Amino acid sequence: MRLWLLRTANVKQALAWLRKFLVACCVTACCQVCYSADVVLLEKGDGPSLSSQRAAVAAGFYGLRTTVFHLKDRSDDLPAIKAAEQNSTVAVIITADVLHAINSAHLLSAIRRENGHSIPILIDGITTETGAEDLRQWSGGAVSGCQGPVSITEQSVYRISTIQEVTRQLSGQKLSARTGQTCALIVDGSRAESVIDLSSVTDEKPVFVKADVGAARVFLSSDVALAHVEPPPSALDESLYEFSEVAPAMMFLRYAAGDRAWHANGHYANLTVDDAWLREPYGYLQYSDLLQEMRRHNFHTTIAFIPWNYDRSEPDVISLFRANSDRLSICIHGNNHDHQEFGPLAGRPLDAQVNNIRQALARMEQFRKLTGLPYDRVMVFPHSIGSEAVIGALKGFNFLATANSRNIPLDSHVALDSQFGLRSWTLAFRNFLSFRRYSAEIPIAMSEVAVDVFLENPLLFYVHPAYFAEGIGRFDTMADTVNQLQPGTLWRGIADISEHLYLEKMRDDGNFDIQAFSSSLRINNVHRKDALFYVEKDEDFHFPLELLVDGLPYNYTRIGARIAFTLPVGAGMSRQVTCRYQNGLDLKSVNISKSSLRVAVLRHLSDFRDDVVSRSRIGRTFIRVYTDHEEQANVGIATVLMVLFFTLLVIGWRTWRTPHPNREQRLE
Ligand SMILES: [Zn+2]
Repeated sequence: MRLWLLRTANVKQALAWLRKFLVACCVTACCQVCYSADVVLLEKGDGPSLSSQRAAVAAGFYGLRTTVFHLKDRSDDLPAIKAAEQNSTVAVIITADVLHAINSAHLLSAIRRENGHSIPILIDGITTETGAEDLRQWSGGAVSGCQGPVSITEQSVYRISTIQEVTRQLSGQKLSARTGQTCALIVDGSRAESVIDLSSVTDEKPVFVKADVGAARVFLSSDVALAHVEPPPSALDESLYEFSEVAPAMMFLRYAAGDRAWHANGHYANLTVDDAWLREPYGYLQYSDLLQEMRRHNFHTTIAFIPWNYDRSEPDVISLFRANSDRLSICIHGNNHDHQEFGPLAGRPLDAQVNNIRQALARMEQFRKLTGLPYDRVMVFPHSIGSEAVIGALKGFNFLATANSRNIPLDSHVALDSQFGLRSWTLAFRNFLSFRRYSAEIPIAMSEVAVDVFLENPLLFYVHPAYFAEGIGRFDTMADTVNQLQPGTLWRGIADISEHLYLEKMRDDGNFDIQAFSSSLRINNVHRKDALFYVEKDEDFHFPLELLVDGLPYNYTRIGARIAFTLPVGAGMSRQVTCRYQNGLDLKSVNISKSSLRVAVLRHLSDFRDDVVSRSRIGRTFIRVYTDHEEQANVGIATVLMVLFFTLLVIGWRTWRTPHPNREQRLE
């Protein structure tokens, strides 16, 4: 199973980041006249604890400010209690080692709001040392201790219960665990409900529970000590946590903050089929049959289209795409699909790669003219994602996004923050939207998909035409699973998904903050009242940009490496926002002819591969091995061809030299 991670440059960097975050929070805490925290964290203060790290990650993900109070005894707790009292505070997190230092009656009264409801409390980091009396008092008698140690082995999983408002799309899932030790909460089943159990071969033990204490909802979570983890072999591949390690804090804060937390405006998904062009059938891909499956199982398919094929479309297939634009769309897949044409710059200079993008766009424009079909300005790189410089070029050419199996450019050295692994997209590279996508050709753990849905990440799946060798309905089960996990999932083209990729959270004044990720977005006011949307987007200003709203120039403010603007949107209305980058691109002057014989041979061989070779199981195995080990395979094939050539040459020579009766006769 792929790790669910908070990837970061390395352990040291991550801790430094967390330290900075916590120091910033403490500075806020010292300024005790401004109790504007969204989350109040009470802890001991002898260095960042695992609980405060988890809280920082979850609060950062949901855009909540955290105010930290360091407590030693009850004489310290007044400022924290005052902070908890503020209407802007949506949650309180207490590490178990300071429970004794807080007056529970005072805090439970401080978290009560005018409407009679209380904001929730999370007591995190409970160990076998945590006082039984403290636990009883804070949980209303629901939890009386923590029994341990309990080993977390390689066979252990975290089983999530179904408490819809808390566990949401994770309900019933099993999340993988990293080995270590924890303790099992001693729970009075009549007063507490388990949210997460640590499940082993022999038994299940509660490690995260909720209890109602008067009007307050109190969550209790046991501490985890991880087994020693080796330092990361590579900065970008390292994982600090599995998702399950931050799951309690994430579930708690999502539940506590509701619309005050960053949230998406919908759940989006897409299936992309790479390499095909508009011919019926293309290998195993029969568009008309796939359309029936999409209608029956509610999904959408994008064709990652190789621009070289721009003038080969069949009229019937064009009509099918035109009549079913809600189910079928097209995006750009390289240019010639000439192996890794956007590979390392050492092999192919940047200029040549940028020219390839220009030609790809010019060919797609010609495709649009010839077919009347629109295409998404989204790049799926052939074979693997390109370099950071090429990603920058895509941005300059006003592409909306790139979608690949990895969302980190192949030559990137950018240090990633602890939020990186939680999102399926990033703007970390040239502030250009880069999606990661799942290969549906290999097994995908349902829990991974559920985590993505819980995190409100768009789900992008991809396959190749040979995927349908086992039947055109092969993707149906995955589509059903997604639609079951999140009823109402919007299956769309990748441009549409990009345009709706923004996060929203409600402000204290009832208006909304928007964090934008795409250079083109459609902001929907789904609320019942007119509102102001305070939009911000990361921007490196590498290209001169113009901001347009509903097609007209609009003012923005530059704040460091961001643009910011305020947009009024009427109830139930939407507005189209576009950042247009100036690039001097003149597509009419770009030569789109197919002059390379090598590329033509390659493309026809690929058609042969998809139409003929993939018809047999052996052929499909060959394609898979070839794709996985292309370089070695090419060397192998070249060697075999050379050997064959020389063998034929030798045979020919010997045949020529050997006297042949007929030839002798003829000579005579
Ligand atoms: Zn491809």
